[in-house]
Amino acid sequence: MLTSHRVQTDFDCVVVGAGHAGLLLARLLADHGLNTALIDQRPDPRTADTSGRRPAGWALSINLGTVTALRRAGLWDYFADHAQPVTTMRVIDPAWGRDVLYRAAEIDGEALAWGITGSDLDTSLVRAVFDQPVVETIWNEAVIGHDAAGGRCSVTCRSGRRITCRLAIAADGRQSPLRTAAGLDGPRADFGQTALTLGVTTEHSHRGGGFEVLYLGGPLAFLPLPEGRAGKPTAALTWVFSREEAARRQTAAPASVVAELSALMPEHVGSVRITTPIVGFPLSASHARRLVGRRLALVGDAAHGLHPIHAQGFNLALRDVSCLVRMLADAHRDRGDVGEGAVLRRYQAARLPDTLATSLFAAGFGVVGGSASPVARGAIGMGAILLQNVPALRAALARVGAGTMSFPPRFRPDTAGVPSQSRRKSADPGSIGRARWEP
Ligand SMILES: Cc1cc2nc3c(=O)[nH]c(=O)nc-3n(C[C@H](O)[C@H](O)[C@H](O)COP(=O)(O)OP(=O)(O)OC[C@H]3O[C@@H](n4cnc5c(N)ncnc54)[C@H](O)[C@@H]3O)c2cc1C
Repeated sequence: MLTSHRVQTDFDCVVVGAGHAGLLLARLLADHGLNTALIDQRPDPRTADTSGRRPAGWALSINLGTVTALRRAGLWDYFADHAQPVTTMRVIDPAWGRDVLYRAAEIDGEALAWGITGSDLDTSLVRAVFDQPVVETIWNEAVIGHDAAGGRCSVTCRSGRRITCRLAIAADGRQSPLRTAAGLDGPRADFGQTALTLGVTTEHSHRGGGFEVLYLGGPLAFLPLPEGRAGKPTAALTWVFSREEAARRQTAAPASVVAELSALMPEHVGSVRITTPIVGFPLSASHARRLVGRRLALVGDAAHGLHPIHAQGFNLALRDVSCLVRMLADAHRDRGDVGEGAVLRRYQAARLPDTLATSLFAAGFGVVGGSASPVARGAIGMGAILLQNVPALRAALARVGAGTMSFPPRFRPDTAGVPSQSRRKSADPGSIGRARWEP
């Protein structure tokens, strides 16, 4: 059964995909007065039956830049109670016994990042969308393509339904049917590995400390989460293996996985107890050929699918969303056409340096971090010596990871599209909703 709470069929923007990127985008576009529809093939989350389903254990590290942008957009209250500040992040190279400690204090931040489960992020964003009555939500409806003609385009659904708009925005994930239909698929890399994700409780408190151990074959990352209902220290683990090794652990007796994990945990964390199913994500990376087509723009995983170990997919998606919202809001305010080529070309030119650099960095870090090659291990060891001994370099890298300094350096992606109401309240009006370009 299709569900939508109104029957309008013509919009300024149609956002295809109500994942993390699409939900945020729809809310911000509507906050800026754009008449927006949000379509997803998933069931209406308000009525979907989730009883009996154990929550998946995967979680996201959302960085300081993202949290700052959400605060400025007036949306952070939706997430704050579900997010754990991460004040330190230790990257450990067991081969050389070296580690690098990144500290929030070193970059004058309250935290480097916040840990939040994928389902809490989803639930919070869904609430943010339903609190904004301008967004028309359409569920149980798969989009199969879009056509542009004259001053409008139409989005076609599998059911035969057509919805017209000035601009269609693909937020439909890594496999993005809309991107493929528009001929915008680009290069793709398969790492031949699987990231196992699981939730755990730990014997001792994590004290807001995350870590990543660069084991040969694949890293193990520990992301602190807020205490669960049982009042126990809680965390999400991402554990990377070859496809075969990952499959072996997914089918192994839980006690043997717990024993293996507990032996890998640093002393201050102690033993672990697994609290969720172990879910595997095959590791790949992709980048669209272009970020725009005729009356079409791509955001989030539809534009770029990252290697997840660098924990940047949603952070990068938020920067796409911020930039696009700012450009569309400007065009809308000037009574222009939000789907016209000039607006879309500006969006692509603004985003490509960041999306490509972040994709390449994440892929490079993913390959080198888990490689057994003596060259890679040597490079990691040398990099660790450098970072341990040059605080300014370490702080610069921490700022890039925290999203408060950009790479490449020209672009400062520290902003989200922000409604005019929040804009007035801000003490720093120049930065709100602006993707600032530095000299
Ligand atoms: C294991 C793992 C760990 C991660 N860790 C982090 C992290 O620490 N930090 C971070 O920033 N990011 C992380 N990410 C990445 C992050 O989850 C994504 O980059 C982010 O959520 C953006 O996703 P999205 O909304 O673009 O796509 P998706 O979440 O894939 O959403 C796409 C939506 O489109 C819908 N859809 C698809 N096809 C159609 C269609 N034809 N018609 C209608 N709807 C359709 C789907 O139903 C879905 O709801 C991680 C990802 C994984 C897998």
